[in-house]
Amino acid sequence: MNKILIVGGGYAGLYTARGLERQLGDSEAEIIIVDPLPYMTYLPFLPEVAVGSIEPRHAVVPLRRHLHRTRVIQAKVTYVDHASKVATIKPELGDEWQLEYDVVVMTAGSVSRTFPIAGVADEAIGMKTIEEAVAVRDRLISNFAKAAALPAGPERDRLLTVTVVGGGFAGIETIAELRDFATHLLSRFREISFEEVRFHLVEAMGRIMPEVSEQTALWVVEDLTKRGVDVHLDTQLQGAVGGVVELSTGERFGSDLIIWTAGVMANPVVRATDLPLDERGRVTALATLQVAKDGVVVPDAWTAGDVSAVPDKSKTPGPGGFCVPNAQHAVRQAKLLAKNIVAVLRDEAPREYIHANEGAVAGLGLWNGVFQKGNIAIKGPLAWVAHRGYHGLAMPMWERKLRVFGDWWAQFWLGRDIAEISDREQPRVAFETFASRPKPPVDA
Ligand SMILES: Cc1cc2nc3c(=O)[nH]c(=O)nc-3n(C[C@H](O)[C@H](O)[C@H](O)COP(=O)(O)OP(=O)(O)OC[C@H]3O[C@@H](n4cnc5c(N)ncnc54)[C@H](O)[C@@H]3O)c2cc1C
Repeated sequence: MNKILIVGGGYAGLYTARGLERQLGDSEAEIIIVDPLPYMTYLPFLPEVAVGSIEPRHAVVPLRRHLHRTRVIQAKVTYVDHASKVATIKPELGDEWQLEYDVVVMTAGSVSRTFPIAGVADEAIGMKTIEEAVAVRDRLISNFAKAAALPAGPERDRLLTVTVVGGGFAGIETIAELRDFATHLLSRFREISFEEVRFHLVEAMGRIMPEVSEQTALWVVEDLTKRGVDVHLDTQLQGAVGGVVELSTGERFGSDLIIWTAGVMANPVVRATDLPLDERGRVTALATLQVAKDGVVVPDAWTAGDVSAVPDKSKTPGPGGFCVPNAQHAVRQAKLLAKNIVAVLRDEAPREYIHANEGAVAGLGLWNGVFQKGNIAIKGPLAWVAHRGYHGLAMPMWERKLRVFGDWWAQFWLGRDIAEISDREQPRVAFETFASRPKPPVDA
């Protein structure tokens, strides 16, 4: 029986495991997935989680509920020695241990890519995990509450200033959703005026959203500006020490919420493996999703998703001729990867991955969005409906889809939810404050 080890249970890992479960009999393979998280995260929903349109738990897919035949190990893979087919597993508690396998699938995804800018590592937050999205929402609402109780001055300004670094899809969706939500919050915080709430988008290039046409990107910039976002193009973040944002234009301002969305890089865990990597640290692969060194297949090793450099064989290939890191590719690659593993196990030939871009769709706040496919661009409410329709249906598992549609349905009738419970981070404070303690022993 083949032991198939999947490293990472995100988009690519989850879909690979499901494909293998469907196609391989119980006696053919043991499927194992290792991930430090018990769930796969639907990352395109993070901006909507950050404004409360979707409940955080509904934007993730619990692996144990939806993988029926796969052994789920909640731990990190810290090392893969593919020459000996042994992976080192580090659970949250206890010692590292070694797992022998026959076939490895590397799907450890990507992490936020930052630059050594003073203050960023200490002050900024990413938009790459569900925990970050929840924290951003809590911070925005609690900052409004703190600012409302303060007189005008630099501290109040700092609390009411949000900075998003990076004008790609993730950054634009994040700032657009947050700006929309902040404008709504003003109706609940009458002590704060529209002019006091500042949003800054910082983008190093001369344009935003490379996935859409220049004209569409310009429309988005104008739309954001109209809604009260300061868009700084051709501008770099040069410092964020103590929450003071310094831009390459010389501008400086205090900002209590600095969100970094300026790109991703392949998960550095692959550097602790003997799998071949390219200069950007991605696992090199053939279009069949087999790991390959200089075009030669590394037997029994497969990869897909953001961690991999898979040749893009479509008519409009991504930069350098490789698939760009997005969910469209990760899901489709994973489905084919599962089929190809099965084919190779049965001595059949694997197929090549070819996928023509389906276009891009982004939500820009309630009833506003943008969609682009080729020369066709749709802007405004129709694109927003397309965004919700596409992502609602693309959310894996009907059980999760229904929860998400349920959140949207509730919001439609009941309005935005501004409940904020950041005190859950110190859940014992109330109990501890009033808990009786044994009296100290009376000194004889
Ligand atoms: C805010 C945001 C919005 C996005 N919107 C879109 C969109 O609209 N459309 C689109 O196509 N794409 C979008 N993307 C990109 C898309 O989500 C990613 O390309 C996709 O998640 C990649 O899938 P993956 O399986 O490679 O990685 P992931 O889904 O990130 O999964 C990687 C998994 O590996 C696990 N892991 C990490 N380290 C280890 C380790 N040491 N051992 C074991 N497991 C490990 C992680 O916990 C994670 O579960 C968006 C991304 C973000 C951040």
